[in-house]
Parts: sequence; C-alpha cells; structure tokens
Amino acid sequence: MPLIVQKYGGTSVGSADRIKHVARRVARGHKEGNQLVVVVSAMSGETNRLLALAREVQQRPDPRELDVMVSTGEQVTIALLSMALMDLGVKARSYTGSQVKILTDNAYTKARIVSIDEERMRRDLDAGYVVVVAGFQGVDEAGNITTLGRGGSDTTGVALAAALKADECQIYTDVDGVYTTDPRIVPTARRLDTITFEEMLEMASLGSKVLQIRSVEFAGKYRVKLRVLSSFEEEGTGTLITFQENEKMEAATISGIAFTRDEAKITILGVPDRPGIAYQILGPVGDANIDVDMIVQNVGQDGLTDFSFTVNRNDYQHTLDILKPVIAHIKAREVQGGDKIAKVSVVGVGMRSHAGIASTAFRTLAEEGINIQMISTSEIKISIVIDEKYMELAVRVLHKAFGLDQPAS
Ligand code: ADP
Ligand code: ASP
Ligand code: MG
Repeated sequence: MPLIVQKYGGTSVGSADRIKHVARRVARGHKEGNQLVVVVSAMSGETNRLLALAREVQQRPDPRELDVMVSTGEQVTIALLSMALMDLGVKARSYTGSQVKILTDNAYTKARIVSIDEERMRRDLDAGYVVVVAGFQGVDEAGNITTLGRGGSDTTGVALAAALKADECQIYTDVDGVYTTDPRIVPTARRLDTITFEEMLEMASLGSKVLQIRSVEFAGKYRVKLRVLSSFEEEGTGTLITFQENEKMEAATISGIAFTRDEAKITILGVPDRPGIAYQILGPVGDANIDVDMIVQNVGQDGLTDFSFTVNRNDYQHTLDILKPVIAHIKAREVQGGDKIAKVSVVGVGMRSHAGIASTAFRTLAEEGINIQMISTSEIKISIVIDEKYMELAVRVLHKAFGLDQPAS
C-alpha cells in the first residue's frame, strides 16, 4: 500500500471551511488505498499573531517561552483536521511534535530535527488511521518544546517522509507549483514541471519561501520524492523536485529568480588588515548562533581594509550589539549598517556551461539605474544586494532579460 505524506500550509487550513476541504481531499486519498500521514501548519496569520503578542509583553521574547506559545497554532489545526476527517467517517488521530516524537536539538526558534520515532505512527497506519501531525515543532532531549524556524512545517513533512520511507511527500500550498519567480510579484512567471534538487536548494536558500530550505536539504539527503501542489485545485501535477539534471535537458540556462528582504548589511570601516581579523569579527557572531550570509572584504590599503557582511534582519540589532566590544578591541574605525536592502538572485544549473550570465544581469540592472552594493556568485547562482526599494523592479527586469516570462497568449 503506498504511503504518502501530505503537508498543508497555513492558507490551506486558514478557516473551518478550508479545513473541511482538506479533509475531503485526504479522505479521497485514503479511500483510494493510500496510507496517509498529514502534516499541517497553523491557520494563516496565526503564527504572526502569536509572535506579535509575545513582543507586546516582552521586548526580546524569551526563546523557550516563545516556542511554547507559537507551537500552539499547529496544535489547533491538527485537532480540527482530525475532527473533520472523523466527520467524513475516516479514522484519524492527531499528534503534536513531542507526542510523535520528533526529537530536535535545543536551538529554540530554529531547532534541527535529530530523529523521529515512527513506531506509533506505523501502528496507527497499520490500523487504518490517517495520522495527523503538527508541523513546525519538536521536543528536545530534556522535554522542552522547540520550533523549527518559519516555514518549518515543510521540514516536518519531508522529515516524516524520510523517516517513514514514504513513496512521496506532497507539499500542498496556495500556488500550483514552483514558479520561475514568485507569481505574486511577477504575474508572467511560469510554473516549472520539474526543478532540480540543486536549483530548488538555491531558490529556497535565496528567499523563495515556497519551500523551507531545510525541507529541501532533507529531501536531498534522504532522496525523498518531493512535489509542490495546490490545495485549491483538484487537478494538476504541480512541480516535481528531480535529482537528475538530464531529466530537463531541454530546459533554459536559468530556471528562476529568487529574492529576499530578510537581510541586513553590516560594514566595518578601517579594519586592521592582518591575519585572524575575519575570525575575530565573525567568530563571536557565529558563537551567538547567527548565520552570516554574504561576506566581502576589500583589498587593504595602508594596513586597513573594509569588511562587509549580511545577516538575517531579525539578527541585525543583536549582531551590532555583539560587534560593539569587538570593534573597540580590534581598533576598527566604525561600524555602519542598514536593513533597507534586498538580495536578488539568478539561479540555474545551466549557468555552469554558459558564459555571460553575470554580465547580462549587471547590464540589465545598469539599464534601470539600479546600483549594486554587493555581489556573490557560485557555479549555479549570482546574488546581488541592492536598495530594497528597487527589489520588485530588479526581479521583473531580470525575469524578462533571461527569457523567463511566459509567452503572451
Ligand atoms: P504555505 O503557507 O502553504 O506554507 P507559503 O506562503 O509558505 O505557503 O509559500 C507559498 C508562497 O510562496 C506562494 O504563495 C508564493 O507567493 C511564494 N513564492 C515565492 N517564490 C515562489 C516561487 N518561485 N514559486 C512559487 N511560489 C513562490
Ligand atoms: N506556522 C509556521 C509559520 O508560519 C510554520 C509553517 O507554516 O510552516 O512559519
Ligand atoms: Mg510555507
């Protein structure tokens, strides 16, 4: 009997009616003879509401308590979906992350899954139940509730699929697949039938929130067959994440444009140019569990250099606080920063065998008078940091310049 893990995002379970709709889809899949594990997110807006509430009470909310609170969103939807399934005559049982149990490390608000105990789920599945699991949450060794970072229900879905060796993991959302860029920003974006795992990894890590990056990492590590589909449409095969490049030989050089406003830039001016300086600056930042993204160090002059890097916007203030004593210690001149930046990235495995992609991107932005603040490249992507106010324009013109617009019908 095929075992399928389905994940439904916030909009898909955003109201009682939507939950009943999801229940009908799940019931159908169950009747067709599949064993089903269903992961749900909190109702749309709920996680944001809870986070805002916490900030009203404590300026920088305590991470442990934040996870206790924010994980309640998913506890509501698992129970509601199970009720809706029972109403349709389907045996269903809900579990929180700690009941499953989904064991994580203890990095509150961005915990990583360490292991999943599948025994209980297997028993239920064999007894004909649909198993409904709360996304986004787990439990650490000491029994504390943890959460997996925004968008973390995708990761719960894929991790369960990996643990259960499911035949497929289906991520149901409010768009019918992965597009060449966010269709809400560029209406002419095209849905991709397939995208390679590597490209999806880049798109996700560079800001395409359709899948949380860790879910793609899991899919890659455990070779989970992963598909993105719409819960709002009855038909359609969505987008399949493939593991072989040659499955899409006909495909274009560039598969998509990703973007994010989630970053902030920090520049340290007048840094003494000597061995160990990068470590002295970035070591304490890393020790505080803050991820550093782009790093640029200029050529030194007169023994001094400038050093810039980006961090998540949520970590901006914290990073500046950490750097204050460091700057004094290394005797750098000053720190500047800004969180009104955006990062726009051009992604495609075809870039490996095509020259001139970077210059096309730079020319396209130059023609619009958009100033480039930072650049970083890899074999399959070019990322550019620009002023946030030009982000949508940059995405649109790059999308067009690389021929990604769908043909006018
Ligand atoms: P869910 O609540 O179902 O997890 P998300 O809002 O997290 O849904 O992710 C779906 C959204 O991702 C879409 O509504 C779309 O605006 C956005 N998105 C960003 N980039 C892309 C892309 N390349 N393809 C499809 N959707 C994208
Ligand atoms: N509810 C969580 C969030 O909004 C997890 C998820 O939806 O994937 O980030
Ligand atoms: Mg999501």
